[in-house]
Formats: sequence, C-alpha cells, structure tokens
Amino acid sequence: MNKKPTPRPTVVILGMGDTGVLVASRLNKRFRVIGVSTKTNLVSGQELGKRLADLPWWQTNYNTPLRQFKALAGVTLVHGKAEHLDISTNSVRIALSNGETESIDYDYLVIASGTSNGFWRTDTVQSASEIAADLSHQAQRVKAASSITVVGGGPTGVSVALNIKRADPSKKVSLCVSGTLPLPGYHSNARAFYQQALSDAGVDLLCQDRVVAVDEKQLSGSVKFASGASISSDAIIWTIGNRKAHTDFLPEHLLDEDRFVKTLPTLEVQGTENIFAIGDVASTDPERSSARNWAYGVLVHNLRRKAKGKPANKAYVPPANRWGSIVGPQENGLTLHQADGKRIRLSKRLVDTVLLPMIVRRFIYRGVKPDH
Ligand SMILES: Cc1cc2nc3c(=O)[nH]c(=O)nc-3n(C[C@H](O)[C@H](O)[C@H](O)COP(=O)(O)OP(=O)(O)OC[C@H]3O[C@@H](n4cnc5c(N)ncnc54)[C@H](O)[C@@H]3O)c2cc1C
Repeated sequence: MNKKPTPRPTVVILGMGDTGVLVASRLNKRFRVIGVSTKTNLVSGQELGKRLADLPWWQTNYNTPLRQFKALAGVTLVHGKAEHLDISTNSVRIALSNGETESIDYDYLVIASGTSNGFWRTDTVQSASEIAADLSHQAQRVKAASSITVVGGGPTGVSVALNIKRADPSKKVSLCVSGTLPLPGYHSNARAFYQQALSDAGVDLLCQDRVVAVDEKQLSGSVKFASGASISSDAIIWTIGNRKAHTDFLPEHLLDEDRFVKTLPTLEVQGTENIFAIGDVASTDPERSSARNWAYGVLVHNLRRKAKGKPANKAYVPPANRWGSIVGPQENGLTLHQADGKRIRLSKRLVDTVLLPMIVRRFIYRGVKPDH
C-alpha cells in the first residue's frame, strides 16, 4: 500500500533581503517556503559608497533578481507588502503589487523585513525597472555634484565619503562626524585606520560639531552646525543612522520601545511559539547584528527542531564589536576589520575571483544563475 506523503509545513518569510534569501535557501527542501517581498530583487543594504561611486560594479554583486538564486527554485515568491499579521489564525495579509490583497497561512513565520535607513533602503513596493531607475538616479546625483557633504560618521558615511572621493579626487567631499573619531561601535584600531585613510584621500573631516536642523529631504545647499558654522554643497548625503524598523504590520506586543521585534537569543520572537525574526529588524542586541555573524544558521537549526516537536536549543551570540568590511573592495584590495581590532587585507584579484563569485555567490547564497 502506498503511504501518503506527509504535507510539508509552510514557512512564510516576510522580506527577501540579505537574511530572508539565506533562510529561504536553507529551508526550501524540507518545508514549503513562501517568500514575500516588496522588491523583486535582493537589493542589498551593503556598500552604499560603492553603489554611489561605482554603480555597475555594485549592481553585479548587490542587486540580484530573486529568481536568479538557484537555491530559491521551488520557493513561491510573492511580490507585495505584508500589511497585517494575525497571530491567532497564523495568517498574514499581503497587499500585492498588482493592487489585490491576499491572505497567506503559515505554520512558521520568519520576520526578515529589515529597516529603512535613508534613501537607499526602503519598504516601497518596486519592480526591477523601478529599482534600476532609482539606483541610477541616485548615482547620477553624486556624479553631477562637484561638492558633497556627507552627514554622519558611521560605516555608511565613511564608505560614502571615501569611495566618492577616491573615484573622483576633483570633488570636494566633507564628512560631518559629531564625535572625535568616525565609526562609533567599532574597535579603536578601525576608527583610527579610517580617520587616516579619509584624511590621506583628501576628505575634509569635520569632527566634534553636530549638524542641527536635520532634514533628510534636503538634497543640496547649506547645513548648519551647533557651533554656528555652516557648509554649503551641491549634494548632501544624510547617513545619520536614522533607522525605522519595517514592523507596522505587526501587533504592538511583539515590539520593543523602538518598534523592533523582541527577539530571543534562539531568534524566536518573544511570547510566540512559531515566529522567528532575524536581521536588522530583530532586536537581538544593541547593534541588531543578526544579519551578519552566521545567525541564519541558528534560525534554520532552531526552526527545524521546532518542526520536529523539540525546543530550540541554539543561541545567537553577537560579537563584542562590529566587524567586516567598511568601505568595500578598493584598488589595493578589501580590508576586513575583526571584532578584536585586527585587520585582514584580501587582494582585489582574490575578491574578484574567489570571495565574491565563489564564497559569497556560490557558497553563502548557493549559486546565482546568469541574467537572461
Ligand atoms: C553575507 C553578508 C555579509 C555582510 N557583510 C557585512 C559587512 O561586511 N559589513 C556590514 O556592516 N554589514 C554586513 N552585512 C549586513 C548588511 O549590511 C545588513 O545588515 C543587511 O543587509 C540587513 O539584512 P536584512 O535581511 O535584515 O534586511 P534587508 O536586506 O533590508 O531586507 C529586508 C527586505 O524586506 C522588505 N520588506 C520591508 N518591509 C516589508 C513588508 N512589510 N513586507 C514584505 N517585505 C518587506 C524590504 O524591501 C527588503 O527587501 C552582511 C550581510 C550578509 C548577509
């Protein structure tokens, strides 16, 4: 007698960015996976500096149509925006890109909807051509400007200022840092390293003075400092870390006071049985660092255990300091900063022939098909 196959449990992933894609690609075989996303592509939040200064290079590595990921074969992709989660019925309502509404039931839910963070990361529903038009418009704005003020000295501000200046040294680039050194949260060695690199490249570092009257919609003209000084430029780029979690569709009791998802070290959402959260939206630690540090492996392991009726038993342990690349690959290679302050430099050749195609695209993302 033929045994009836047991239906695979359904996992719905909300947000197919860096972490949603990784989780989907690991769960795809044992579960029925539905990936819901506002974008048809994985538009990475990484390397804004390279994106503005060298868009063709960035597009190859960081703007990938979801259908090109080999490991997503079999995943149902839904283009739309989650607008209401009902945990009593295990269902989520989606506003589809075609204007219709669909309710999707789940056995397990993964919230990976990320954050808005300035103009370069949004939760707007966009098609591939709308994404391309946006990227090109932003890069053109920088290309056309001869003077640029970058406000905010975190990793994005440093990456933007250094990459733009190195790509075109004739531009006047100023970086506004409210503290004494750029890169708060990074090891002091990394902070000193980039202070030197920025000044060697000719970026004007304006430290220890806060920009007042912050208006992220202001794209050019004058910015004023608390000291009374001001600076004027053809383009202003705000990289002030003004993150807004994409959580408006979630019940209030799942959110912390900053509206990020209350997430346990197991990456389960606090107070729920079958909901997980990962990435920039998940309040795992002050840096909300679970998009990095291999946290997707923890989530996949724990979700598989829960599906077998066992409790989650792996914990995500965030590193003490932020680590990784800050400015992306440069002419002299890629510098990776470790949490303990040490750094490793990979040659450009190694990055172009091994790191990006083999380690990132083949090993981490499990293969990317060429675009047709
Ligand atoms: C392999 C890897 C290497 C990394 N290396 C570094 C590094 O060296 N340095 C560093 O600083 N960071 C690094 N990062 C982290 C990275 O910069 C960000 O933290 C990461 O992009 C955040 O991923 P995310 O999935 O949380 O969010 P996102 O990638 O922003 O994805 C969220 C997605 O959800 C969509 N969405 C939003 N709202 C909804 C909704 N209501 N319904 C449906 N979809 C929605 C968004 O449009 C977006 O597509 C790395 C990440 C990875 C995976």
